[in-house]
Amino acid sequence: IYQTACYQFKDTGHAADLFSLDQLGYVYSRLTNPTVDALQKRIAALEGGTGATACSSGISAILLALFNLLQSGDEFVTSSRIYGGTVNMLKNSVKQFGWKAVFVDPMNLDEVKAAITDKTRAIYAESFANPEGHCCDIEALATIAHDAGIPLIIDNTMATPYLIRPIEWGADVVISSTTKFMCGNGSSMGGVVVEGGKFDWSQNDKFPLMAGPEPSYNNINLHEKFGDQAFTVRCHAVGLRDLGNCQSPMNAYMTLNGLETLALRMERHSENALTVANWLTEHPDVSWVSYCGLPSSKNFATASKYSHKGYGAVFTFGAKGGYEAAKTIVESVEMIRHVANIGDTRTLIIHPASTTHSQLTPEMQEQVGSGPSVLRISIGIEHVDDIIADLNQAIAKAS
Ligand code: PLP
Repeated sequence: IYQTACYQFKDTGHAADLFSLDQLGYVYSRLTNPTVDALQKRIAALEGGTGATACSSGISAILLALFNLLQSGDEFVTSSRIYGGTVNMLKNSVKQFGWKAVFVDPMNLDEVKAAITDKTRAIYAESFANPEGHCCDIEALATIAHDAGIPLIIDNTMATPYLIRPIEWGADVVISSTTKFMCGNGSSMGGVVVEGGKFDWSQNDKFPLMAGPEPSYNNINLHEKFGDQAFTVRCHAVGLRDLGNCQSPMNAYMTLNGLETLALRMERHSENALTVANWLTEHPDVSWVSYCGLPSSKNFATASKYSHKGYGAVFTFGAKGGYEAAKTIVESVEMIRHVANIGDTRTLIIHPASTTHSQLTPEMQEQVGSGPSVLRISIGIEHVDDIIADLNQAIAKAS
């Protein structure tokens, strides 16, 4: 663990080369750090990307990716079926930068196409969406984006590269909250931006930040100089430098440990989730279950196209008794943890309408699948009988 803020230069020439990007290397841990770099290399390899930038959280990864693409007055098209915290940032906070998010239903490809204007600089969606677990049609979204000369950004937090590798289906940038499955035990915050390396930033005049003169580095053109790693270089050399949202070496180390068991955990998460989803489907006090791994799901065919090893851990279900019953269930679980997180070894539950999605309007809550009776569950790797027993007694109390 390189627990250090800075690195000794060999001489002034070496320092000058690093500062002008004539040589890439370690300058200061806000931009790069060897432990963080080990994590970046492994995640880039897992996703099949040409480079990666680790940062302080999943939210900061989204910000970092957009920071390479958008200037004041620009727009991006985003799926509305995404994590509530991301909705908050994209709907409200990024307006402060003069960026405009246009929300669409990613399942309605005509709506996605119609939302693109001359000012659009990216399409953004989640592979498996939080909270409903729906899988978007990555290949179709990539085609729409590329026809418009813009990149597709996929948040792959919920699927992880073990289940879905969005770059292979045409995504240009993949972001993840490593806080979730990659770390795996709920101990460390982190995020990562992975570059696909195939997008031509010079194909039109929409991306001056990537393919125009970079004033803070002697007006170099990053795309010309760094080719299929230009996006990653800008994430470090401009994004982390100026936003300051770097990842700590200790968190990178914790996440590196977690990655070693990613495959085993994702298999068990998916297997348990399918068993629990099937059991809930049969339960008389459950009105519906939204899990794309159920053959009865409208999303089953799309999810099966992209994921061959399972359908992930997170899904939603509806309590028959509405808002009150849903609240009673989260208050009555004993083994399952009532927390605002997903992707832990332990099973986690939350009532989005009163927590993560409480700042959304009732219409928006319904639109993103977080209405009053909805419960989100992130199935852990415990013995599945224990998960079912706990849910069974909690649902009985609410009935
Ligand atoms: N993306 C998804 C799909 C998430 O579920 C979350 C958090 O729950 C985030 C991004 C944000 O990640 P973080 O909490 O690490 O900032």
